[in-house]
Amino acid sequence: MKDIHVLVVWPIRPAQLAQLEQTYTAHRYDQATPAEKAAMIQQVGDRIRAVVTTHGGGFEKNLLDQLPNLEIVACASVGYDTLCVKDCQARGIPVTNTPDVLTDDVADMAMLLMLATLRRFLPAVDWIKQGDWVSKGMMPLNTAVRGKTLGIVGLGRIGKAIATRAEAFGMSVSYYNRSPKSDVPYRYYDDLHALANDVDVLMPMVPGGTDTQGLISRSVLEALGANGYFINVSRGSVVDETALVELLQQRAIAGAGLDVFTDEPNVPSALLELDNVALQPHCASGTFETRAAMAQLVLDNLEAHFSGKPLLTVI
Ligand code: NDP
Repeated sequence: MKDIHVLVVWPIRPAQLAQLEQTYTAHRYDQATPAEKAAMIQQVGDRIRAVVTTHGGGFEKNLLDQLPNLEIVACASVGYDTLCVKDCQARGIPVTNTPDVLTDDVADMAMLLMLATLRRFLPAVDWIKQGDWVSKGMMPLNTAVRGKTLGIVGLGRIGKAIATRAEAFGMSVSYYNRSPKSDVPYRYYDDLHALANDVDVLMPMVPGGTDTQGLISRSVLEALGANGYFINVSRGSVVDETALVELLQQRAIAGAGLDVFTDEPNVPSALLELDNVALQPHCASGTFETRAAMAQLVLDNLEAHFSGKPLLTVI
């Protein structure tokens, strides 16, 4: 398959990247300077038949338009809100993603952030490091998860995996979705404000993009209230981040655990000052195991496409 040219817009894991480079003729767009990128597209743009990318690496219409013979875009993420999927589909170019293989790690991160926030894990570490345990004694108490209600917004693959974990921690689960799910025992809300008002922890698990932009609005957060916690491992765009920061500062919501932000990698500086937040740098799927599985799924989709077999995970 060495005659097949692949544009690497964002690299996959080293072992799978090496396999990609052995199998195909790979062009490392990801490593090129802007001038080198322009030259690369000029030289081989019309020979590129596949693109490898991720939602973080993006793939925009501007680049798509310069690849007249593109046949497939293989994306190493489940989210695809930063990719020009509709433009690809309009040209009949399939886009693949990597669902399922990352579900457990992302659900684990949601639980980690929830536990860290309610149990005040990071302030407790500081309590030791700053000598407060010695000078002030036991730290102030924190909040139990057992007996609390978790409200999941978007009960898809990851949302369900979080719900299962939450049940094991002794929580009740409620959810908001576009329509009720017939295969779960959890309480369904068709009103997001009502869900936020009734739960202790609110957790969006919807995709990013225009449909969900600002879904968690200021009024939804106000409905969550001063004893409510907000945990976000979905996308920064789904919440009104300005309102979130203000309400956290005012203690109008109790705390937040955030893996995703509106303008990554820039995190609002006000968040860094707060002791009622736990922050992660968008790394919920970032384990060796899961990133390798995601990279392998990229390879498997390319292999299926160029062997004339059905794609494994097409969007
Ligand atoms: P799924 O498609 O399985 O689940 C998404 C759920 O959101 C579905 O239940 C869907 O409803 C619901 N939904 C979609 N749009 C809306 C809407 N407008 N209003 C209400 N509900 C809506 O996706 P996954 O669970 O696999 O992944 C979810 C998201 O998690 C990804 O899109 C990505 O953004 C994020 N993610 C974040 C990661 C990180 O590193 N932080 C890593 C991986 C994923 P319906 O059932 O009706 O289709």
